Amino acid sequence: MGKCARCGRALKDPVSIERGIGPVCYEKSGGGVFDADLNVDEKEWQRREELLKHGGEIYLGVNWDYPDPGNLIRGYTMRVSLRYRDGAFEAYGRMYKAGQGYKEVIFERSADIKTAYKAAILAGPLSTAQAHRTRMSCLAQARA
Ligand SMILES: [Zn+2]
Repeated sequence: MGKCARCGRALKDPVSIERGIGPVCYEKSGGGVFDADLNVDEKEWQRREELLKHGGEIYLGVNWDYPDPGNLIRGYTMRVSLRYRDGAFEAYGRMYKAGQGYKEVIFERSADIKTAYKAAILAGPLSTAQAHRTRMSCLAQARA
């Protein structure tokens, strides 16, 4: 069913289908760095919940790529983090691009911190993969 966000090949493995990216492309896009963050005990989840509910943030990478529909070659640089806002945990990205300033995208909002955390871990590599694919197809078109 699903296609890899970076190379466009069909995905077979259930984990890859859920992610929307194959294992090799996940790694090429910087994925894997924060995966182990999910394997912690309940005490650590509670600590994270309290940190976020008291206005803290958890950062999950600051140099991700995010595609810019207005400029397919040069996208945004994105920082992914978790925060707590209006009764839910949010996985969000803060993008920056010279000349365009900052903008924000919310990847997930959930009352369950684990759901939001998982989405935050995926957001960086997936956006980087999409930015790469956009760039490559644009360059291929320019050559044709
Ligand atoms: Zn791929």
